[in-house]
Amino acid sequence: MAAADHRARVLVVGAGPVGLTLAMDLAWRGVSVIVAEMRSRAHPFGVKSNHVAARSMEIFRRLGIANAVRNAGLPADYPNDVSYRTTFTGFELSRIPIPCRAERYVATGGPDTWWPTPEPPHRINQIFLEPVLFAHARAMPTLTYLDQVEVEELTQDGSGVTARARCLTSGRALTLAADYAVGCDGGRSMVRKFIGARLQGDASVQRVQSTYFRAPSLRQRQKHRPAWATFSLNPRRSGNVYAIDGRETWLLHNYLRPDEEDFEAVDRDRCLRTILGVGDDFSYEILSKEDWIGRRLVADRFRDRRVFICGDAAHLWVPMAGYGMNAGIADATNLSWLLAARLDGWAPENILDAYEAERLPITEQVSHFAMNHALALARQRQAVPDTIEDEGPDAEAVRARIGQAAYELNVAQYCCGGLNFGYFYDHSPIIAYDDDAPPSYTMNEFTQSTVPGCRTPHMWLSDGGSLYDRLGPGYTLLRFNRGVEVADIMAAAAARGVPLKLLDLDTSGDAYDRKLVLSRPDGHVAWRGDAPPARPADLIDRIRGAAPRPAKQAA
Ligand SMILES: Cc1cc2nc3c(=O)[nH]c(=O)nc-3n(C[C@H](O)[C@H](O)[C@H](O)COP(=O)(O)OP(=O)(O)OC[C@H]3O[C@@H](n4cnc5c(N)ncnc54)[C@H](O)[C@@H]3O)c2cc1C
Repeated sequence: MAAADHRARVLVVGAGPVGLTLAMDLAWRGVSVIVAEMRSRAHPFGVKSNHVAARSMEIFRRLGIANAVRNAGLPADYPNDVSYRTTFTGFELSRIPIPCRAERYVATGGPDTWWPTPEPPHRINQIFLEPVLFAHARAMPTLTYLDQVEVEELTQDGSGVTARARCLTSGRALTLAADYAVGCDGGRSMVRKFIGARLQGDASVQRVQSTYFRAPSLRQRQKHRPAWATFSLNPRRSGNVYAIDGRETWLLHNYLRPDEEDFEAVDRDRCLRTILGVGDDFSYEILSKEDWIGRRLVADRFRDRRVFICGDAAHLWVPMAGYGMNAGIADATNLSWLLAARLDGWAPENILDAYEAERLPITEQVSHFAMNHALALARQRQAVPDTIEDEGPDAEAVRARIGQAAYELNVAQYCCGGLNFGYFYDHSPIIAYDDDAPPSYTMNEFTQSTVPGCRTPHMWLSDGGSLYDRLGPGYTLLRFNRGVEVADIMAAAAARGVPLKLLDLDTSGDAYDRKLVLSRPDGHVAWRGDAPPARPADLIDRIRGAAPRPAKQAA
């Protein structure tokens, strides 16, 4: 085998938001990592995701980039609301209030302002997000970024992974070597094919003709306060418009009808004008066409031995609830600490089984949430009455009814607290479960809980700080009563090299109903109790993947 041109512990294929987050999280944990990206950074980014979820912002906070991400995108005072109208310039039907970033940390009274998090969500397009992630990643000392390098082929054996790659500027062949490789290479993933995974689900849920355009005059043409997302509901053509820079650039989604199968056969200009409610005097410049098909596809496996897939490589669904990229970021930070644990030497290879066991069921579940929501929205669009744009009290009553229905249907997706905080890992080989079931959740409803597998509940500490800022990079044992003796757990962890920090807390918050809660490196509960476990070494072996798989999961 040829000598490697580059060698690291982990190779990440693809530097979209998921690959960059994975690489940064690994580097932050001290793992050397190569990121190979075929796209040139000079090439404009796709105008896709517009929402960074609170859970993703929590991860960016830990990596030290939450402020930089928060300060990018729309102007600080630009409303982040979602507005429902007959057309962009027509009657307003209802509005979901979401604080602008200047007020994001202090606003109260909105549908997502009560969330138990130090980092509320952030409305920002991917074209502004990715450069922030990239700049931070590039500056990390243990991260090697290979620009315009396409990975063409992988091989793996018992000792590692080798990639054949090509520098797209010079044409030179490169050999990259690592202990593990992760495909974050998007929907057409080469790595997914390499591991023999197949996408399963629904290949087409909704076709959307999308246009990214510049129109400085549009903001002034609306009769209502600007919004981050503005939906048009009328019987002629429904769609929505995202404010991209808050001044002159916009992304318009035209939801095609089931019989409109050919994107180019649909009159783009006419539909755009109908959704905006403007005449031929309105001028605009198309920056790019971003047509897409909403799907519901999840890979049937996320791993083959030393090779894994994350993000769009592993799952694709309609971008409802703004939860495509964000689910990928959650994959990345789940896998990152497992790989770091293995490479640090305190966990056996079995710990890596947890990745697919934990993430595949969650992504399958979110894919259904997203598809069901997309179908409900399509039904709502089809049921808009012809009279909605008339004058007079009857039409006003229609608008009030449709507006209320739009609010109720959509507040769940735009303020999707359940997707952020409600999900739990209930069949993991590395969680010490007890007899309690986790609280159920919906897209927007959730209950914080210490049931093992749930997200470690957040609370504000008596000094005003966030609990999450006190958690260690490894495990953290939260102790709510200093009288409980934990020396044996700490000693068992130390004996096996498992990084464990003890955090004594004088306040417990509503969600903490046990004296001891063991939080994992990714902020999920691994174990809890009112007293130390009878056999601390067994607990430590369970959470580091060294215990036999529980009987109920072994099958
Ligand atoms: C219209 C639209 C709106 C969306 N809105 C949202 C939203 O609001 N919120 C949300 O969370 N998600 C949203 N999404 C989804 C989101 O954009 C994707 O989930 C996200 O981009 C996936 O990130 P990724 O890093 O997995 O993949 P990608 O962003 O596709 O990145 C993959 C990278 O891998 C590189 N690559 C591929 N093959 C190779 C190779 N062989 N060698 C080297 N490099 C390679 C590619 O060049 C690319 O840079 C939306 C999607 C669309 C289409």
